[in-house]
Amino acid sequence: MAAGESTAPRRRDESWASTPGVRASMQSNRGRDTSPELAVRRRLHALSLRYRVSIRPISNVRRTADIVFTRAKIAVFIDGCFWHGCPEHYQAPSRNSDFWRAKLVRNRERDTETDEQLRSYGWIPLRFWEHEVRADPDRIAAVVAAAVSPQIRDALRSGGPKPGPAREASPEVRVINSRVGDQTRSS
Ligand SMILES: [Zn+2]
Repeated sequence: MAAGESTAPRRRDESWASTPGVRASMQSNRGRDTSPELAVRRRLHALSLRYRVSIRPISNVRRTADIVFTRAKIAVFIDGCFWHGCPEHYQAPSRNSDFWRAKLVRNRERDTETDEQLRSYGWIPLRFWEHEVRADPDRIAAVVAAAVSPQIRDALRSGGPKPGPAREASPEVRVINSRVGDQTRSS
């Protein structure tokens, strides 16, 4: 902190944002078009990729993805570490813990269901943790760009590594898994 900056506003925020959920929500509202999603979008745009932002991949399914490639049928989700229960950063709040636990379970079930629905319509869901995107937006953009490119999609279609637990895998593996999972379902 620079000399002369006051810490008072931050303290006020903290007392006002009395739960982790409120804090996470404030952070995500602040970050809607700033970071880390924008960091990835900017890079994708620089790669001449065109996409839609915060739309439903499938119009009659009430689920919104963060970055959507309609022609390639790829839906990118950047999952917040708090709301989606990142194994590295999620800390269960001590107050109202039952409420927060139930909320997390619901969110994760919803994520799984969303992925299944997308796959059933021939879409590829790609999920990244917020912290992965913050740490290395270049890498995440490269993974997304690879998944979108027809050559890579064809290569993945003609057989890739074995499917594993998608959720904890690295983004690269998750891209491949979602392809393989897609194949398994459609064959
Ligand atoms: Zn995390």
